[in-house]
Amino acid sequence: MNTFVNRPFFVTTSTAHPARILVVEDEPKMAALVSDYLRAAGYEPHCIADGRAVVDAFKATPYDLILLDLMLPGRDGFEICRELRSFSDVPIVMLTARVEEAERLLGLDLGADDYICKTPFSPREIVARVKAVLRRSRKDAAGSEEASKLEVDEDGYRARYNGVALDLTPIEFRLLKTLAGTPGRVFSRNALLDQLHADHRAVTDRAVDSHVKNLRRKLEQADAGQECIRSIYGVGYRFDA
Ligand code: CA
Repeated sequence: MNTFVNRPFFVTTSTAHPARILVVEDEPKMAALVSDYLRAAGYEPHCIADGRAVVDAFKATPYDLILLDLMLPGRDGFEICRELRSFSDVPIVMLTARVEEAERLLGLDLGADDYICKTPFSPREIVARVKAVLRRSRKDAAGSEEASKLEVDEDGYRARYNGVALDLTPIEFRLLKTLAGTPGRVFSRNALLDQLHADHRAVTDRAVDSHVKNLRRKLEQADAGQECIRSIYGVGYRFDA
């Protein structure tokens, strides 16, 4: 009996897109200021002022982190945090107006990842804490089970995705190995062709596209709805975890 996985690649969560941050804050000036700072730090902020809209907004669009004010119209931050935690472990940073509130929240153990007091108001500190929480959560994600969806057996020319054995041709196997070896990196068709030529096969530029297409179909069969190989228009392809 040979073991299936010799040298698995541990594919980590993609960090290619800017982190999307949901800013829940009812004071327009404060929301605008925090958003400006977040944008300047390379994040993609979206603002919501009404507490009742938060859970639906989060369910509709995935966010990487939620900045959640405690006192909100419609519904307070306590309740929102509790409900979010009942189905998601998205990082939550709670904002409070007073230090005593922050202490009270800590005691309640709502499951938020951090608490920031808004007085004195320092958007710079908010950005620093957001950065720290995101870094921590990404590190956790990289070490979790979820991170190793793809297993590659180089010697056996076999691969499994999402626990499902993939029936790959040697060319598809090489393509997958190359793309997934460096997740997030864009490979041009020429770079992929070079890899395939190492296999001593004549492969045309056009053929790369059709091999990628077949490879994609097989990956999607193993995990429906997951689009892990992306076409970068006019450039080539990229593997996203
Ligand atoms: Ca408020």
